[in-house]
Amino acid sequence: MAMVIDAAEMRRRNKLTVLNAIRNQPGISRAALSEATGMNKATVSSLVAELMDERFVIEVGPGSSTGGRRPIRLQFHAEAAYSIGIDVQIHSVRLVLCNLNHAVVLEHLLPMSPASMSSAELVGQLADSIRHLLAEAPESPHGVIGIGISLPGLVNYRTGYIHYIPNMGIRDLPLAEILQAEFRLPVLIDNDANCGAWAIYRDHTAVDSLVFVNVGIGIGAGVIVNGQLYRGTSGLAGEYGHMTIDPMGLRCSCGNRGCWEQYASESALLAHWNEVYARTNPGLHCTGYDVVPRLVELAQAGDEDALRAFAHLGYHLGVGLANIANTLNPEMIVIGGRLAAAERFLRAEMEHTLRARALPVARDVRLTMAEASVQAVGAAGIVAEETLLRTGDAPAVG
Ligand SMILES: [Zn+2]
Repeated sequence: MAMVIDAAEMRRRNKLTVLNAIRNQPGISRAALSEATGMNKATVSSLVAELMDERFVIEVGPGSSTGGRRPIRLQFHAEAAYSIGIDVQIHSVRLVLCNLNHAVVLEHLLPMSPASMSSAELVGQLADSIRHLLAEAPESPHGVIGIGISLPGLVNYRTGYIHYIPNMGIRDLPLAEILQAEFRLPVLIDNDANCGAWAIYRDHTAVDSLVFVNVGIGIGAGVIVNGQLYRGTSGLAGEYGHMTIDPMGLRCSCGNRGCWEQYASESALLAHWNEVYARTNPGLHCTGYDVVPRLVELAQAGDEDALRAFAHLGYHLGVGLANIANTLNPEMIVIGGRLAAAERFLRAEMEHTLRARALPVARDVRLTMAEASVQAVGAAGIVAEETLLRTGDAPAVG
């Protein structure tokens, strides 16, 4: 179907193409830009002038010359604006302020507990922390251009609506709309696995397909296929936590039996530990949030039971990862969430099981662990990119 594009829209798209070419090739000259984009030199010069007026592009001095006048090099101005990323977890909230290259400029880990809050309390606390971060943001031409929020549950990215967050009493909350009205800034929400996948992909743009497996109280995955987040028909793609690995197995909160997250999540570790190792020693009993840090501490001290519990978990993680490798054949699988901190104790068993169970062509997948801040960085990045894409020129603020 042919689409009618008016001249203004055409110019907006061309400008975005030029901006992206400068981002992808720092130091590029106007002549090289014209070659790279296929636009004539006059158009490129005029678009670059506009981007410089808006402070999204700066000149960084002459480059090397092969004779004749040395070309002026152009660079994307990553500090032209900032965006806020917030990762809401069951027992903590991480806030980051990122520049337009998705580098973290400010970061705070707040010890608040959304699991025990009402919707109104959560909204109030998030608004307070956003207000603080806005006040702390460095001066920049466009200021803060958006707020992205990563959430551990069922959310609608398009409408900004939270349907349900398991393990928190939050449901049916139009979070983006509320915060947007309060701060007069674009607000986007997405689930934590998608935010993590997006951030990892931004750091590995040469990778075409990857799966980010977020292992927390449950398991969710963000899937990048052909350089795009794959969301599925109803936005539910990546719910690998509810993949059946034992048809007659443990009961799951989803109503099914034998779901992967009953064997390979933080809750699985907690249940297994309390049942097998802490049963005869109440001093070892863990109550929930403390299970990962406590077992990491024990394992570091060489405690055989803790090492066995992690190996048991690593084995079950590997079983599910082999299924993911076989079904999607990604280049890379990245494990995130709080269990990533136990990499040392999980890795051997997890990797062995993955490589042993995946089909020969799928088993060479790269397996890595993510930094704790990826979900927040992804949330900040998604909203910044969306805002830049939507306007294609100066964001509506500043
Ligand atoms: Zn389930």
